[in-house]
Amino acid sequence: MKIQSIRGVRDILPGEIEKWQWVERIAQHVFKRYGFQEIRLPVFEKTALFSRSIGETTDIVEKEMYTFADRGGEQITLRPEGTASVVRAYIEHKLYNPPSVLKLYYLGPMFRYERPQAGRFRQFYQIGIEAMGSASPLVDVEVMTLLLDFFQQLGITGLKLEINSLGCPECRPVYREALKAAIRPHLPELCANCTQRYERNPLRVLDCKVERDREIAATLPRFRDHWCAACQENFTEVCGLLDAACAPYSINPLLVRGLDYYSRTTFEVVSGNLGAQNAVCGGGRYDSLVEEFDGPPTPCFGFALGMERLISLLPDDNSEDLRHRPDVFIVALGDAAARVSIGMAARLRGDGFSVERDYDGGSMKSQMRKANRAAARLTLIVGDNEIAAGKYTLKNMENGEQREIEEESLSAAVTSILNSEPDGD
Ligand code: ATP
Ligand code: MG
Repeated sequence: MKIQSIRGVRDILPGEIEKWQWVERIAQHVFKRYGFQEIRLPVFEKTALFSRSIGETTDIVEKEMYTFADRGGEQITLRPEGTASVVRAYIEHKLYNPPSVLKLYYLGPMFRYERPQAGRFRQFYQIGIEAMGSASPLVDVEVMTLLLDFFQQLGITGLKLEINSLGCPECRPVYREALKAAIRPHLPELCANCTQRYERNPLRVLDCKVERDREIAATLPRFRDHWCAACQENFTEVCGLLDAACAPYSINPLLVRGLDYYSRTTFEVVSGNLGAQNAVCGGGRYDSLVEEFDGPPTPCFGFALGMERLISLLPDDNSEDLRHRPDVFIVALGDAAARVSIGMAARLRGDGFSVERDYDGGSMKSQMRKANRAAARLTLIVGDNEIAAGKYTLKNMENGEQREIEEESLSAAVTSILNSEPDGD
């Protein structure tokens, strides 16, 4: 019986993985410039961590978590997102007093039991950022600027940064009631999901994807008319700083987020090229979560970005550059050559070159064909004659030029040929 992978879960194969590695490299470079350090988190945690932080009435906790009892009877959940673990680690290791704000990033797989479709998987990957310890709008704007910088480094265009404010514990309950009152007459027209949301999480009605509900949402009262003075001032400052940073954005009054812990600035980055699953990244401020887990008051700002959706937006023109190409492909003819060349391969690799070879010792023609298929930059030809003469043939696969090289000068010759090539590295 053939066993296949689970629905909504996929392999990332060579050919595609180069893009992932490249994105991860760029992320590390960009994040470092802004002072963010990596934190590597466990893939599973106690269920209560997620249900308490994300919120009992959210889609994630109600229907998307992979939860099970382990062999000791403990309730365990495969992480559906990263922020809860960052907060747990922050408190557990008392990371309270960084020189400035504590700046962390993480990357790795997340798990949600959702209906698999384009841009939606059950195991998917996120890169996330958390800046912990300041309520300053400077933090909001620096993190959003970092994100735009990252997209620019990746060459992705056509993205839109949308922002909104979800108010604070003072003004949110007021808005919630105003919203419920306005939704009430529409209840019979709303989708089943929104009928439930009305009682428990009415703000979520605002970003329902059902067409009819969207029409109704557009007529509902806006949060901005209910912000308290402090939230109003905060939002104005965030917008002013985004302008000062020359960061393009638009205000989306219907933007709310699926997790309970957000307050004040929230944002999404959306793309016109992703179909229905158009959000690449979402995030915002969460000022009370650390305290809710019995940590010290620690206002935070962060985001999570979906890798699959990001990768699908990468411009195609760099995939050829990212392809793995061996520097040297060894064509060894005969048993003696096989023995000699294994030492040569070791030395070349030791000098930092990537070396490939034919393991099955075919004819010159068939080995050269493999070198071509592997897109090797150079081939090194080793046969009985070469061994006897102590000189080996190094062939440049770009232009067909050949050189006779003694073993001692092999690495130097490879370096000089690769450096003279326009795309050599
Ligand atoms: P959506 O509205 O698309 O369900 P979300 O609000 O649930 O998104 P977040 O929890 O904010 O998503 O996660 C941040 C990002 O992670 C999303 O913008 C998206 O790019 C990605 N993401 C979320 N769920 C999935 C999934 N099931 N498969 C692939 N990517 C996902
Ligand atoms: Mg979701």
